[in-house]
Amino acid sequence: EAPLLSVQDLGMTFPGPRGVLSRRAGIKAVDGVTFDVRPGETLGLVGESGCGKSTTGRMLVRLLDPTAGRVSFRGADITRTGQRELRPLRSKFQMIFQDPFASLNPRQTVQQIIAAPLRAQGVAPDAVRREVRDLVGLVGLAPEHLERYPHQFSGGQAQRIGIARALATRPELVVADEPVSALDVSIQAQIVGLMERLQRELGVAYVFIAHDLAVVKHISHRVAVMYLGRIVEIGGKDEVYADPAHPYTKALLSAVPLPDPAAERARERIVLLGDPPSPANPPSGCTFHPRCPKAQPVCSTERPLLRLTAPSGTRQAACHFPEA
Ligand code: SF4
Ligand code: MG
Repeated sequence: EAPLLSVQDLGMTFPGPRGVLSRRAGIKAVDGVTFDVRPGETLGLVGESGCGKSTTGRMLVRLLDPTAGRVSFRGADITRTGQRELRPLRSKFQMIFQDPFASLNPRQTVQQIIAAPLRAQGVAPDAVRREVRDLVGLVGLAPEHLERYPHQFSGGQAQRIGIARALATRPELVVADEPVSALDVSIQAQIVGLMERLQRELGVAYVFIAHDLAVVKHISHRVAVMYLGRIVEIGGKDEVYADPAHPYTKALLSAVPLPDPAAERARERIVLLGDPPSPANPPSGCTFHPRCPKAQPVCSTERPLLRLTAPSGTRQAACHFPEA
């Protein structure tokens, strides 16, 4: 099946601080990111904070213009499309944000918030009212919630409003940037479950951004792991979770609790040394080498490219010494 979204060599370089020579050295927040999203699937995009996953997510829906590469939606390059030509496409891709309260206008009622994207599309007032009623039901809120304001809701309910707004125009793609990170752990599974159900009912595709692999395990069909602005591993969910190829993926997975207590006790935990390095000053060669338990001399001089880990497979990893 043709991809819904196709991302090619996407890059974002932010201007850096002025150096001694008064030349701005750019900071590569995202570098050479390439992946596809198929209709109706979920791609989990995972990595520590500062790895460029939010920046990538914002570029996918043109909230941020990339400095390199391109994004195609159903075959059409949307990277440099003017805002006017972009307008009819806008309804096809939407975003859900991490902090539901910060992303909802506190002076608008739920009715007004969810209606806004429909009104922007020129939908008639009667049809907007009907649609908004359907949408609140779809996300598990009640009709009496329509006249209330965001501060009258819990975090989980506020995120349901954000989801209803994102789905109002029946998009084909939703980029969800850590949609459950700000919520109580007890609520997180409910919201992920809701998003899964909505995907089954509406056929929407998700790019689901998270900082740990546990959150996206159930909802993802494929997973991409980012480190310092680049994808270091990407593949089918089962393959990546059962048999990670990149040492960084392995380390992230070793922090995901196992349901079986015996397995949990027996399992080795990989503790990474130090924090991720700053993208302003990335390490040479493989940027993961200062923290990698498997690093060899070649790792600090040669950058590993993303390549297939088996000739017949689809999973790719960027490592000189991949597992499996
Ligand atoms: Fe570790 Fe070397 Fe692989 Fe980088 S290339 S992840 S340093 S083994
Ligand atoms: Mg972020």
